[in-house]
Amino acid sequence: MTNIAFIGVGNMGGPMARNLVKAGHGVTAFDLSPAVLEPVIKAGARRAASAAEAVREADAVITMLPAGQHVRSVYLEGGILAHARKSAVLIDGSAIDIDSARAVHAAAAEAGFDFLDAPVSGGVGGAEAATLTFMCGGTDRAFERARPILEQMGKRIVLAGGAGAGQTAKMCNNMLLAISMIGTCEAFVLAEKLGLDAQKLFDIASTSSGQCWSLSTYCPVPGPVPSAPSNRDYQGGFATALMLKDLKLSQAAAHASGATTPLGAEAAQLYSLFAAKGHGGLDFSGIIRMLRGEL
Ligand code: NAD
Repeated sequence: MTNIAFIGVGNMGGPMARNLVKAGHGVTAFDLSPAVLEPVIKAGARRAASAAEAVREADAVITMLPAGQHVRSVYLEGGILAHARKSAVLIDGSAIDIDSARAVHAAAAEAGFDFLDAPVSGGVGGAEAATLTFMCGGTDRAFERARPILEQMGKRIVLAGGAGAGQTAKMCNNMLLAISMIGTCEAFVLAEKLGLDAQKLFDIASTSSGQCWSLSTYCPVPGPVPSAPSNRDYQGGFATALMLKDLKLSQAAAHASGATTPLGAEAAQLYSLFAAKGHGGLDFSGIIRMLRGEL
């Protein structure tokens, strides 16, 4: 059994923490929102009143937070680095900007910790089923220490490179995901206009050259994939606001590095518009409703 502090138990962190409890680890959880903490405590985790309290006895610390500022704040501002044992391995599973990831890497190394940036892919379904992909950045040593813990929450654990490489892989993956989701939605919208049944399009395209994750696993129209958020009125899943955050990160990185990403730029525009219309809380596949002109 490993003592694990889990900070940030929202849509993703909640099921991930519950899987660690199920695997027999001692989990101490903290979140600013008492509502999301409750199911994790019910599952058998201990409640902490602050990040500092959560990490005090931990052998491993996992953070699953919205964005770079939250990660900087819990690690750097009197929380994790100040209160964790030096022997603890620190893992940030949040999807954040490369500069914040590198800043936390540098501060953690300076304080003598092994730290890994380890953003995930696989969505809430993957978090619940413990089938996430972890894309890691850091030293071989940090990776080997973190791997047995990550294996309790995921099925593919990959070391992408040094500090920040996990975040780089994640933002490239999510730019591709946003583009493929919008493309998948456009195909269904066109099929609807042309009178082609959505299930027929799914059956054909999911076994043809149009096949992709956005279609086969996360179909944006209700029916063909029962576990997809489209069957729950686009509630839960991967919030549009978080997808927009990732697209802004990849666009900033594209500008800074001189990469040409016109479809990434267009995807960022469309998700900005969808969020500006007040739908930032809907799953990102809900953009089909804007493309149909319903929202
Ligand atoms: P979420 O908003 O549901 O959960 C984040 C949690 O962090 C919230 O419960 C919030 O209260 C808590 N929090 C914020 N600041 C805190 C602080 N200082 N101390 C303690 N708790 C704090 O978000 P999520 O969907 O779980 O996503 C978490 C991360 O995972 C994000 O970076 C997101 O981009 C990434 N991600 C999400 C998905 C998905 O499908 N939801 C998929 C892959 C990656």
